[in-house]
Amino acid sequence: MSLLVVGSVAFDAIETPLGSTNGKIIGGAATFIALVSSYFCPKVNLVAVVGGDFPKDAIALFRARGVNLEGLQIKENEKSFFWAGKYHNDLNSRDTLITELNVLGDFDPIVPESYQDCEYLMLGNLSPEVQITVLKRLRKRPKLVVMDTMNFWMRPEVLPELKTVLAQVDVLSINDEEARMLSGEYSLVKASKVIKAMGPKTLIIKKGEHGALLFGPDNELFYAPALPLEEVYDPTGAGDCFAAGFIAHMAACKSTSFEDMKRGVIKGSAMASFCVEKFGTERIVNLSESEIADREQLFFDLVKV
Ligand code: AMP
Repeated sequence: MSLLVVGSVAFDAIETPLGSTNGKIIGGAATFIALVSSYFCPKVNLVAVVGGDFPKDAIALFRARGVNLEGLQIKENEKSFFWAGKYHNDLNSRDTLITELNVLGDFDPIVPESYQDCEYLMLGNLSPEVQITVLKRLRKRPKLVVMDTMNFWMRPEVLPELKTVLAQVDVLSINDEEARMLSGEYSLVKASKVIKAMGPKTLIIKKGEHGALLFGPDNELFYAPALPLEEVYDPTGAGDCFAAGFIAHMAACKSTSFEDMKRGVIKGSAMASFCVEKFGTERIVNLSESEIADREQLFFDLVKV
C-alpha cells in the first residue's frame, strides 16, 4: 500500500525552555512525516524540494529508511526553506521568529509516474497552492487524503487557496489554536462544525499535552490522551509525527473507517510522544519495533478502566 507525502523539507532553528539547537538542524513537515511513516508503510513516496545547501547525509537518511526520493527536487543554486521558532514556557504555544520560504517560494511539485498509484495522500504543511497542485496532478483520487496546515497559511491573502484545498480533503489535522483561528469559534465543538462545513468530513484537533480529539463524519467523537512526560525537549514536528502515525496506520490496514481512525489517532499520539523527547528528528530516526509497540501499549493502559 503506497503513501504519498508532500510537505516542507527544511532547516529549523529552535528555542525551547530546556535549550536551543544552536544553529540550524534538519526539520520540515515532510521530513518528520516520511521518517515516521517509514516504520509502518513499505512504500513511502516523497514530493518535496530542497536547496543545494541541504546536507547529503540527511538525504541519505531518507534513503536508509526506504523512502522513495524520485519526487525530491534539489535546486543546487538555491537555499532550503528555513523556519525558526521559540516555544513559550507551557510548550503548547510558540512564536515563529523566521520563515524564509526560499525554494518553497516557487515550488512546482512534480509527481513522478511511479507515484500515480498511491492510495493514501498526506498533504503536509506547506503552501495550499502546492497542495492543490499535487491533488490535481494525481490522475486517480487517493482513497484517503489527509491534510495538515498551520496559522501561516491562514493569513487573509492565502486563505482562499487554503479553503480550496480544504474542500477536497477527507481529514484535516490541526491544533486547537489553528482550529479557533480558522473557524472564528472558541468552542472546539463549534469550531469542528464550522471547519467540517468547509470540506473535511473528519477533523482532528490536537491539544498538545492534553491529547487529541477526533470528530467523525457522523458526529462520532473520540479522544486520545497525550503521554504525560517528565520533560518535553522540543515539540517541533510532533504534529507531523502524529499525522504520520495516523495516515500510515490507515494505509497499513488499507482502511478509511472511523474505527480504524481511532487506532490511528493512538498510533499518531505514540509517535508524537517520541518526537518531543529530543530536538528535531533525533528521537525518531532510530526506533525499534518493540519500542513503538510498548509506547502504544502505554497509551492503551492510560485509559483502560
Ligand atoms: P509542527 O511542529 O508539527 O507544526 O511542524 C514543525 C515543522 O514545520 C518544522 O520542522 C518547520 O520546518 C515546518 N514549518 C514551519 N513553518 C512552515 C510553513 N509555513 N510551511 C511549511 N512548513 C513549515
